[in-house]
Amino acid sequence: MSDAILTALSACRARIAAAAGARPVTLVAVAKTRPAADVRLLAAQGVTDIGENYLREALAKQADCADLVLAWHFIGALQSNKSREVARHFDWLHSLDRERLVAPLARARPADRPPLNVLIQVNVDDEAGKAGCRPEAIAALAAAVAAEPRLRLRGLMALPDPARDPAVAFAHMAALQRDLARQHAGIDTLSMGMSADYELAIRHGATMVRIGSALFGPRPRHPGAGATADVALER
Ligand SMILES: *Cc1c(COP(=O)(O)O)cnc(C)c1O
Repeated sequence: MSDAILTALSACRARIAAAAGARPVTLVAVAKTRPAADVRLLAAQGVTDIGENYLREALAKQADCADLVLAWHFIGALQSNKSREVARHFDWLHSLDRERLVAPLARARPADRPPLNVLIQVNVDDEAGKAGCRPEAIAALAAAVAAEPRLRLRGLMALPDPARDPAVAFAHMAALQRDLARQHAGIDTLSMGMSADYELAIRHGATMVRIGSALFGPRPRHPGAGATADVALER
C-alpha cells in the first residue's frame, strides 16, 4: 500500500511540474479518510501541505502528527459551529463563503499564531445547494476578510461541477482572481484542480491543487456519497 502511494506521489509531482513549467504550484494532499500513517509517509517525502474535510478526523490526525511541521488546510464545508476550531487548528481555510463567519474566525484565531490564510470559495457553476459564494459576492466578502488583522486574504477556491466542462469554470475563476488581485495586495493563491483535472487547472492558473484519490486510491464510499454525505459525517 505504501509503495503504491509513493509511486503515485512521484507521478503526481511529475505531472504537476510538467503542467506548471517554471511556476510554483503547491500540492495539497487531501488526506480525508486516510490514517495518520499516510500523512507521515508523505511528510517523509517532503509533502508539507495536508488537506482535510472533517474537523474531528482532522484534529485527531493533527494530534498524531504533532511532531511534524505541516501546513493544515481545511477544505470542507464550513459551518458556523466549526469556525472556532478551524481558526484555532488550521493554517489555511479554503471554504469561506459567508460574511457572517468572518468575525468569529478572526476572534478565534490565537494571538500567538500568524494570521489564518483565507481563500474565498466560489460557486463558479452556480449550482443549487452547493457551497461557495456567487461571483458577485466576492468583493464584499474579500473586503470583510481584508479588514481583519487576524485573517490574511490569499485568493479564491473552487470545486467546479464535474458534469460540466471544467475548463470553462477554471478560466472564469482565473478572471475572478485577476479582478480580486486588482483590489487587494497579497492575492497569490488560486486553489482549484483535483485528481481528475489538476493539470487542466494548472494550465488555467491554479497555484494550489488539492489531490486525494490520485495519491491514495479510491476512498471508501459513504452512503449517498458526495458533498452532502461528507457534511453528514460530521454531525
Ligand atoms: C475530497 C476533496 C478533494 C480531493 O478530491 P480527489 O478527487 O480525491 O482528488 C479536493 N477538494 C475538496 C474540496 C475535496 O472535498
